[in-house]
Amino acid sequence: MAKKEINQCSFCGRSDKDVNMLISGLSADICDSCAEQAYLIVKESIEAKQKSASGLEKSQLPDPRKIKEYLDGYIIGQDNAKRYLAVAVYNHYKRILQEKSDDIEIEKSNIILVGPTGTGKTLLARTIAKMLHVPFAIVDATVLTEAGYVGEDIESILTRLLQASDYDVSAAERGIVFIDEIDKIARKSDNPSITRDVSGEGVQQGLLKLLEGSIVNVPPQGGRKHPEQKMIAVDTKNILFICGGAFDGIERKIAQRLNTKVVGYASSMNNAEVDRENLLQYVAPQDLKSYGLIPEIIGRLPILTYLDSLNRSALRRILTEPKNSIIKQYVKLFKMDDVDLSFDEDVYEFIVDKAIEYKLGARGLRSIVESIMMDAMFNIPSTKEDKLHITKEYAVEQLERSQMLKLKNSQ
Ligand code: ADP
Repeated sequence: MAKKEINQCSFCGRSDKDVNMLISGLSADICDSCAEQAYLIVKESIEAKQKSASGLEKSQLPDPRKIKEYLDGYIIGQDNAKRYLAVAVYNHYKRILQEKSDDIEIEKSNIILVGPTGTGKTLLARTIAKMLHVPFAIVDATVLTEAGYVGEDIESILTRLLQASDYDVSAAERGIVFIDEIDKIARKSDNPSITRDVSGEGVQQGLLKLLEGSIVNVPPQGGRKHPEQKMIAVDTKNILFICGGAFDGIERKIAQRLNTKVVGYASSMNNAEVDRENLLQYVAPQDLKSYGLIPEIIGRLPILTYLDSLNRSALRRILTEPKNSIIKQYVKLFKMDDVDLSFDEDVYEFIVDKAIEYKLGARGLRSIVESIMMDAMFNIPSTKEDKLHITKEYAVEQLERSQMLKLKNSQ
């Protein structure tokens, strides 16, 4: 094929003098602005394809075992919560995909996770959302108040979800919302009182309509609703709500219930069978009610499961086993500077001991590792070292040093 004589863009026809740059091919040329246009067209079409792919088909939907396996890669232990969550999420998406050909409508299955703080509730919800490629938002129930009071309107929950989906309303409508600290909006006493409880029962009432599925007008930028702001209508019917809370002291309510039962029914459930150390595993909807959640809310969170508190061996595993464990993250950070980072086994034990001593749980592991690695992260990139091995002595010394520094800075 003969090469063209005149130097002009084969798409817009402008000559090389009229454009910034002309890129020559075998039998055609393209100018910089047409190349840019072409790039945008390709990008848009790829994005459109990806979007329709995330519209989930039954065949793409992982079954509960697969979902649990995926969760196992990131979260240590918590088998009970994982199984419940896997089934609930699977059913939730089956429900979205259901054909409306008969009268049987599968109802929504929002979830409530009860477990001490820092045991993986948020991590579970976040990991599920990542697996399903759906928008995910975390909100803290404590900042919500009844409309008209200082705090955030309930609708702001959906603002977060819209933001997470880049304001793609249909994606947001299939998203997952994690409402943290749901126990903090419990009513202060079990008896409905005549005094107003704006951050407790009022918020629970407000949440009801979101949880059950309705069309809600959402202020796109969050904050308070005001008349000039253009609202976005969001249907919450297919949004999965996962609520989490520590419910401190709920064990007492569970114990009370179990005791009365045992006495009352002269007991198929023998007292001896009850594992008194881990009462959370027996949590039931009526315990949430005694704790101060209103029955309507409990009814809209039909899936109730619990998380175990993390013992020593769980903390040790969290340090190295999850796919993006803290230690793996540091090894990667150093690898990017071509440094091989390794640890003695007893360093891990030391880190876990400290996390237990400081009563920091899994959240503390990261800050302890950060303190130990700080010095090396500062110095290594400007040296020629290609290996760094952390011994227990080094870890002890670095942690003490960082604590001394913190003490000094606070004086
Ligand atoms: P919660 O929501 O229960 O208060 P998070 O899920 O926010 O706790 O956990 C805090 C951090 O602790 C997580 O980011 C994670 O690094 C770690 N973590 C907690 N529990 C686990 C677990 N079971 N497996 C792995 N990591 C965990």
